[in-house]
Amino acid sequence: MTVQPQPTLPEHPDFLWRNPEPRSSYDVVIVGAGGHGLATAYYLAKEHGITNVAVLEKGWLAGGNMARNTTIIRSNYLWDESAAIYEHALKLWEGLPEELDYDFLFSQRGVLNLAHTLQDVREGMRRANANRLNGIDADWLDPDQVAEVCPILNVSPDTRYPVLGGTFQPRAGIAKHDHVAWALARRADEMGVDLIQGCEVTGFVKDGERVVGVETNLGRINAGRVGLAAAGHSSVLAERAGVRLPVQSHPLQALVSELHEPVHPTVVMSNHVHVYVSQAHKGELVMGAGVDSYNGYGQRGSFHVIEEQMAAAVELFPIFARAHVLRTWGGIVDVTPDASPIISATPVENLFVNCGWGTGGFKATPAAGWTFAHTIATGEAHPLNAPFALDRFTTGALIDEHGAAAVAH
Ligand SMILES: Cc1cc2nc3c(=O)[nH]c(=O)nc-3n(C[C@H](O)[C@H](O)[C@H](O)COP(=O)(O)OP(=O)(O)OC[C@H]3O[C@@H](n4cnc5c(N)ncnc54)[C@H](O)[C@@H]3O)c2cc1C
Repeated sequence: MTVQPQPTLPEHPDFLWRNPEPRSSYDVVIVGAGGHGLATAYYLAKEHGITNVAVLEKGWLAGGNMARNTTIIRSNYLWDESAAIYEHALKLWEGLPEELDYDFLFSQRGVLNLAHTLQDVREGMRRANANRLNGIDADWLDPDQVAEVCPILNVSPDTRYPVLGGTFQPRAGIAKHDHVAWALARRADEMGVDLIQGCEVTGFVKDGERVVGVETNLGRINAGRVGLAAAGHSSVLAERAGVRLPVQSHPLQALVSELHEPVHPTVVMSNHVHVYVSQAHKGELVMGAGVDSYNGYGQRGSFHVIEEQMAAAVELFPIFARAHVLRTWGGIVDVTPDASPIISATPVENLFVNCGWGTGGFKATPAAGWTFAHTIATGEAHPLNAPFALDRFTTGALIDEHGAAAVAH
């Protein structure tokens, strides 16, 4: 087996090792230095001129889901509200490598969502039409066209779940996740944001119904406003401030194969057989499935999920039968009842929350940060995130992407 040459990437930036002592007070404290926390800090500084900001991270910078996701980026969601925010994210992605002056290997190689049943076909066609009405690139492909886009896919009618067609979004793709985090962090750091690792938020300081700071393992830090971007831990943290979030935490796993020559030209997702596969720049086949069904905070999942995911992958891609697993890992994602995120003010004054992105928040990173920064800076939701406020769980204005089936990753 010949291994692809490794792309040249910048060295680890200095700020990863320069861990400033927290100051006693900040205008804004962001909890969680994953992609969303870092993007929020970046846009607070860039768009709103707010630089007296600390991002507090209990572990190391972007060591949570940001380091563990399978990097699929797309905007082909069904509902108008989702299409708007994910398309905003995709447009930001398209400009970010230049804006951040960092080539994080954003590759618009397209995403295929396969259909295996008549119901899948109806859902896919409906979603592609809805996407086009929202100005999002989307095509419906028949099995021959699917094979043209991805020749290693088995589109034979004899398989257990034959490929009946699929939707294709050409502008979708992947990026190198850890480098996205470093790119955002570098710019935020340059603009004066303090990125503080090894700093766990353990509680909130309140003055009546107003948050005025956070308690941490490094002591109390006063804050004008606090934004939670602590995916997987949002409900536990918010509860400490007296806010009950409609969010549950689940393990979510993925795996990579050993390195291979480039064989897989796009990203393939199959919600029906439940696997999705891309090939990283280095050459690993990157595969994931759905969440484990139980709630948990351990960053590992059940073996049977991986077993089923591999069986599905081999059925769709017979040549993968000879590939070997290099490593598997898990993260903790937080899931809402309608499988849509929450970017919102809370009933506690000066406390804001960004959570509930479930299995699909990497693609949203720039827009999540952009809208969360707007909400924290102005105290008001932007039209893009207004539909994703907490009150939808009492008004009933849910954005049910789970029912729309395009939701995974
Ligand atoms: C296996 C897997 C595959 C995925 N694949 C995709 C995909 O292909 N496409 C996609 O769009 N999305 C995907 N996702 C989802 C995506 O990774 C998440 O939705 C997104 O990363 C969440 O935002 P974040 O980056 O800010 O989270 P994180 O990186 O998890 O950041 C949250 C941070 O908060 C910190 N934290 C928690 N509690 C505290 C505390 N008390 N004090 C201080 N810090 C705290 C954590 O340590 C963590 O670093 C996947 C996730 C997993 C696990």
